[in-house]
Amino acid sequence: MENLGKLIDGKKIAGEIREELKKEVERFKKEGREPGLTVILVGDNPASQTYVKFKEKAAQEIGIRSQIIRMDKEISQEELMGEIARLNQDKQVDGILVQLPLPDHLDEKEVIEAIDPSKDVDGFHPINTGRLFNGQDDAVRFEACTPLGIMELLDREGIEIDGKKAVVVGRSNIVGKPIAHLLLSRHATVTICHSHTPDLAGETLQADILVAAVGRPKLIKGDMVKEGATVIDVGINRVDGHLVGDVDFEAAKKKAGYITPVPGGVGPMTIAMLMKNTLKAREYHGV
Ligand code: NDP
Repeated sequence: MENLGKLIDGKKIAGEIREELKKEVERFKKEGREPGLTVILVGDNPASQTYVKFKEKAAQEIGIRSQIIRMDKEISQEELMGEIARLNQDKQVDGILVQLPLPDHLDEKEVIEAIDPSKDVDGFHPINTGRLFNGQDDAVRFEACTPLGIMELLDREGIEIDGKKAVVVGRSNIVGKPIAHLLLSRHATVTICHSHTPDLAGETLQADILVAAVGRPKLIKGDMVKEGATVIDVGINRVDGHLVGDVDFEAAKKKAGYITPVPGGVGPMTIAMLMKNTLKAREYHGV
């Protein structure tokens, strides 16, 4: 009998989260100040422009005061750092997001480190990644939006993490490493795979929870998925004008217990989590 994977509808879940956040924004407004998010966009990268528009739309929809600062692609490091220093001081701004990638002449690392960690709603500042790494939740800590969105999907679908075997394919700072830490903090046994992993299928076949964050279309074939596994596909690849994930969806869904589609899986959750982090920052900053 075919065991068809249950689709995890990220679009629907993200919509529900936005409704919940809208109510929280109302509460903040009654307290005297709505949350504020500022996005800095340098240059005219078309993908970045699209992402920024999505973020602005989501913010406006739930009542966050949002602002996009567009800067010329020739801007100097000093000018950009000056803008961040100004936003760090601005009490109306709870979240600062610098849309990546930056043009080559700018130092991304220095820019991220200049953001006040309590306004780092992308969760990329070393203070925030360090607190995640150390398992420190006694101080305010912002987690990267995509990994946070994956955890939310797992929790809202009631998928057990504690004691399960999780395999993460990809070790980037924005997805692979932080999702591995989040799963570890919830007591999964975690394996991280990358381009030097000799037997990828041998690893993925052991996964109760398989996260693919690679950027290679359909790298994960059906026969690399364990029967009944939860498959989370983070990949966004454009192939012949269509978006496809890192997982061969049609084949994998015949093996998986749960599976996310691309598009409509992890993607919408990333933006919902950015909104959630902005509200968390507002709560921390107060009125
Ligand atoms: P990176 O390019 O930064 O990292 C890719 C990782 O995949 C690297 O660790 C690399 O290994 C590993 N890798 C590459 N080839 C293989 C292979 N053949 N076998 C095993 N591992 C391999 O990508 P990101 O983490 O930034 O993004 C991954 C994907 O997720 C992309 O498609 C991106 O567009 C998408 N994405 C989607 C988001 C969303 O909201 N849905 C948000 C962010 C990203 P090594 O380290 O050895 O080079």
